[in-house]
Amino acid sequence: MADSSPPDSPPVALLLGSNLGDRAGFLRRARESLAACGFDVVRASEVFETEPVECGPQPPYLNQVLLGTSRHGPEALLEVCQGIERQQGRRRTAPRGPRTLDVDLLFYGSRVVAAPRLTLPHPALPRRRSLLVPLAQVAPGWPHPVLGKTVLELLREGGDPGWVRGWWG
Ligand code: AMP
Repeated sequence: MADSSPPDSPPVALLLGSNLGDRAGFLRRARESLAACGFDVVRASEVFETEPVECGPQPPYLNQVLLGTSRHGPEALLEVCQGIERQQGRRRTAPRGPRTLDVDLLFYGSRVVAAPRLTLPHPALPRRRSLLVPLAQVAPGWPHPVLGKTVLELLREGGDPGWVRGWWG
């Protein structure tokens, strides 16, 4: 099923997150489903446990960043990611509510998109430590195409107050 990505595919970073049920299992099945849909992982961060921020009280997340290439363009890749979320039991109830699986596009090469369903780079990228810490493991020098700062520079600015810690299952 997996076609190979075109040779000039830009690097794409995805954030996996889960804070309900078998969190590690949801992340593992998401990696498998993405591979089956033609997302070729070049580097994967460690899995981190992170504090939910900008929402009410809820359980901690497991988060992981995948850096890879996709045979889908940005909008089609978002559809693929949302299809995988649904396959794994994700129900869109309250915005920012707990979820079995969340798959977000952090960046897609240097594409800048401001469409109703898709914002690129991901709007939380400049400040959210739960994505900056794993992203800095796989793409520390990646320049934010709007802010002109690298991922590492954004992380060094501090970001939100949420804790991020190693997770060993
Ligand atoms: P979430 O609750 O994180 O799954 O995101 C909710 C909505 O954000 C979805 O309906 C998407 O259409 C929208 N969205 C906008 N930009 C992005 C992005 N870069 N990655 C994932 N979802 C996005």
